[in-house]
Amino acid sequence: MNPYLDEDLVALADQARRFATDRIAPGFQDRDRTRVLDRGLMKAMGEMGFIAPELPEQYGGLGMGCLAAGVIHEEIARADLSMSYINLLGSLNGQILSQHGQPDVVGPWLARLTRGEALLSIALTEPRGGSDAANLGLRVERVGDTYVVNGEKTSISAADQADASVVFGRTGSPEAGARGITALLVPMDLPGVTRSRFDCHGQRAIGRGSIFFENVRVPVSHRLGDENKGFVQVMQGFDFSRALIGLQVLGVARVALAETWAYVVERQAFGQPLSAFQGVSHPLAALETQVEAARLLCLQALWLKDRGAPHSAEAAMCKWWAPQLAYDAVHQCLLMFGHGGYDRGLMEQRLRDVLGFQIGDGTAQIMKTIIARTRAGRAAVPA
Ligand SMILES: Cc1cc2nc3c(=O)[nH]c(=O)nc-3n(C[C@H](O)[C@H](O)[C@H](O)COP(=O)(O)OP(=O)(O)OC[C@H]3O[C@@H](n4cnc5c(N)ncnc54)[C@H](O)[C@@H]3O)c2cc1C
Repeated sequence: MNPYLDEDLVALADQARRFATDRIAPGFQDRDRTRVLDRGLMKAMGEMGFIAPELPEQYGGLGMGCLAAGVIHEEIARADLSMSYINLLGSLNGQILSQHGQPDVVGPWLARLTRGEALLSIALTEPRGGSDAANLGLRVERVGDTYVVNGEKTSISAADQADASVVFGRTGSPEAGARGITALLVPMDLPGVTRSRFDCHGQRAIGRGSIFFENVRVPVSHRLGDENKGFVQVMQGFDFSRALIGLQVLGVARVALAETWAYVVERQAFGQPLSAFQGVSHPLAALETQVEAARLLCLQALWLKDRGAPHSAEAAMCKWWAPQLAYDAVHQCLLMFGHGGYDRGLMEQRLRDVLGFQIGDGTAQIMKTIIARTRAGRAAVPA
């Protein structure tokens, strides 16, 4: 129990945990090997109402709060962080499309997204760099009723598995910076789109890769937000995904800690259970404390969002702290399993999976800059 979760949300989380334990957890390691997201499971998640439940009913959602998305997300992540990307990308893109898209264009996509029939990626990063996101150069030129897109996006989660992507490109001059960027919904089967897949350390079932655009013609109706305002308007959605990512990686840390407690109570050394040694139980107790605190911070960020209150700093706190903490927690858990932890298995896969979020969606340095700006002002913290 905690102040953010009422009985309904706890019941929803229980339902999601049962589904994740029975249906998603069994294939966790197989999907790491095959590097394919299970579309059948994605559809089942959609049928359960687990994808973007915060969207209005007219778009296939359940009209619930963002906290509902959060509790489902962490339960799916406990079973398989890669599969929980379906929730993350569903909520982030769902919010962007529903708030900034033309209803007759985005409506069918949102219906497919919430039913678990379509996966959408988000394409911001370019080969020249991701931290300085407003400095992007993908060329988007308006020709009549279409935008013609040329260039490359890289390091995009689900690049080769997504059905469409929210793509940020430059319609204004380079000097215009963030005020010369336009966001487009680009179906991945348009002529001129090709994709590659990287060999990633973790998160292998969702994967990352590049998307190449060669004279891709996107109807103007597929624009999200106003021309040249994609960055300023659409990027606000990232506060949502940052809080969700916090819960996602902490879900992994919490299941790792639970399994490790069970193990250290059972395993004996020097005639006692491992848990009898403070060198074993105290680090785990310290991690439990920090994970609990970080989780409450993530829930608070979503609670603020549900109330329409500012939460950019809180979201950035979630995004830098939780991935680092989750990595430390899983690392410590792995060590508690001794040599067994070093075998290919649940712990080492979890360690590989959570590491990605110390980079993806913005690094700790960038998150700390966002926090500093909210406290000291943008002029005092220029970059
Ligand atoms: C698992 C994973 C998933 C991803 N998924 C997506 C996705 O779906 N879509 C997408 O668009 N991108 C995605 N990315 C890309 C990600 O957002 C970028 O990698 C990230 O923003 C950093 O950009 P970069 O890798 O180009 O590093 P750079 O920007 O080159 O930075 C390199 C290093 O310098 C530091 N640095 C840079 N500027 C500053 C500064 N001002 N102050 C202090 N330090 C600084 C950074 O923190 C970093 O440590 C993903 C990346 C990963 C690893």
